[in-house]
Amino acid sequence: MNRRDELQTNLRTVEDRIVAACADAGRDRSEVHLIVITKTYPASDVALLVELGVTDVGENRHPEAQLKLEELRAMAAGRTETLPRCHFVGGLQTNKAAAIARYADVVHSVDRLKLVRALDKGAVAADRGFDCLVQVALSDDAGRSGAAPDEVESIAAAIAASERLRLGGVMAVAPLGADPAAAFERLAGIAAEVRSRHPEAVRISAGMSGDLEAAVRAGATHLRIGRSVLGARPSLR
Ligand SMILES: *Cc1c(COP(=O)(O)O)cnc(C)c1O
Repeated sequence: MNRRDELQTNLRTVEDRIVAACADAGRDRSEVHLIVITKTYPASDVALLVELGVTDVGENRHPEAQLKLEELRAMAAGRTETLPRCHFVGGLQTNKAAAIARYADVVHSVDRLKLVRALDKGAVAADRGFDCLVQVALSDDAGRSGAAPDEVESIAAAIAASERLRLGGVMAVAPLGADPAAAFERLAGIAAEVRSRHPEAVRISAGMSGDLEAAVRAGATHLRIGRSVLGARPSLR
C-alpha cells in the first residue's frame, strides 16, 4: 500500500472510532475536532493529510514544527489556503515562546504565568493573536507537565487579560497507568470551573490514540491523534 492509501485507511478507521464514540456518548460528531499529531513525521505526510481533508495538525517541538510548516509552504507554492492550522502541544521553554508565537494557531501547553507573558510578548511582536489552552496536570508525579488544578484559574485569567492571546479552554494528557475515564472526568470538572468565569473558554483538548473514546465520553472537543493515523513513531514518547 502506498503512503497516501495507508493514511487514508487509518483516517477512516479513526473517523469510525470518533463517530462510534460520539454515538455512545449521545454527542453530535460536529462537537469533536480531530487534530492529527504529526511530530517526528515528514512534511510530505502532512501534505498528504491535507489532501485527505485534515485541517488541523499538531506538533510538540520547536524548531521541528516551524521547519515543517516552511516546507509545506514551499510545497504549496504560496497557496496559503492549503496550509493546515498548527497546534503546538508540547512542553514549552519560555525562551522558545517568541518563535512559536510567530506560527502557532493554538498553543495547548500553557502551564505557567511566565509562559503567558512570554507568549503574549511574542504575539505582540509578531502582530498576531492565537488561542491558548491551559494544560492541567492530572497527577502529582514529579516531572508531570501541566499546571496543578489550583493554579489553573490564575493562568486562565492571565491569558484572558493579555493583550493578544485568547483563552480557548483546557488541555490534559491522561496520566500513564491511570484510568483515563476518571482523569478526563476530572478535567471536565476543571473545564466547567474555568468556563463559569470565562464563558469563551469552551475547548477541552483531551484524548489520544489509546483513549479517545473515554475523552469523547467526558466531553472532549479536540482530540490529538498521532499513532492511529501515522503509525508507531520510531522514537516513542
Ligand atoms: C504525541 C502526542 C499526542 C498523540 O499521541 P498518540 O498516542 O500518538 O495518539 C497527543 N498529545 C500530545 C501532547 C502528544 O505529545
